[in-house]
Amino acid sequence: MHALPLPAFDDNYIWLLRDGTGRALVVDPGDAAPVLAALGDGPPPHAILLTHHHGDHIGGVDELLARWPGTPVFAPRDERIASASQWVESGDEVAVGPWRFRVLAVPGHTRSHVAYHGEGLLFCGDTLFSLGCGRMFEGTAAQMHASLARLAALPGDTKVCCAHEYTLANAAFALAVDPENPALQARADAIRSLRAAGQPTLPTRLGEERACNPFLRCAEPAVRAAAQRHAGRPLANDAEVFGALRVWKDGFRA
Ligand code: ZN
Ligand code: FE
Repeated sequence: MHALPLPAFDDNYIWLLRDGTGRALVVDPGDAAPVLAALGDGPPPHAILLTHHHGDHIGGVDELLARWPGTPVFAPRDERIASASQWVESGDEVAVGPWRFRVLAVPGHTRSHVAYHGEGLLFCGDTLFSLGCGRMFEGTAAQMHASLARLAALPGDTKVCCAHEYTLANAAFALAVDPENPALQARADAIRSLRAAGQPTLPTRLGEERACNPFLRCAEPAVRAAAQRHAGRPLANDAEVFGALRVWKDGFRA
């Protein structure tokens, strides 16, 4: 299944999936313009999926609804998403055109954040990034760590469709945490080449993230040791390692 990242703003991606008839699924349209340009005079989209309430993910919905009235808008139950037509919650199956997705609750970046998994794809908004993860605006380290663990347990060949192109900056931090990891070194080289050529680094494969992303590797001795060194104290469990990494990253300058 081919998912297309439409660049928006400075570093967002709006994800587009198209069926054989040209009808689309649109994920997290923070801006309507790239979607209107991509879909042109084609048929209306099957649906819009939203992962969380932030403006850079939902800001274009009203304009898309003005263009294609009645398009279903799936979103987590949250009064801050006024444009939703159907609330989803963890475990729900969302049927969109020929596709089926399972909803996963992934609180932490925001309290109501969800991800959609199906068709070999994962739309994870601002929860999981390639070589990184979202900031914790409305959750604890334990919550965010559990949300990432839920995503990391999906099949390794899942294509991870993150909502931001942060990979190059994330690679610098990942290498600071886990410098001896050969899989990470190879991925960082590949990322530099992709960005130098103006190409997206996404989607990434979940198996690759499990091998390279320090936020999914809190149980690895090298990652734990680096987190403890930086925190200057022993860390009791993987969630504490995760929390220490998140604090480290928040202050990190490459
Ligand atoms: Zn966000
Ligand atoms: Fe965002």
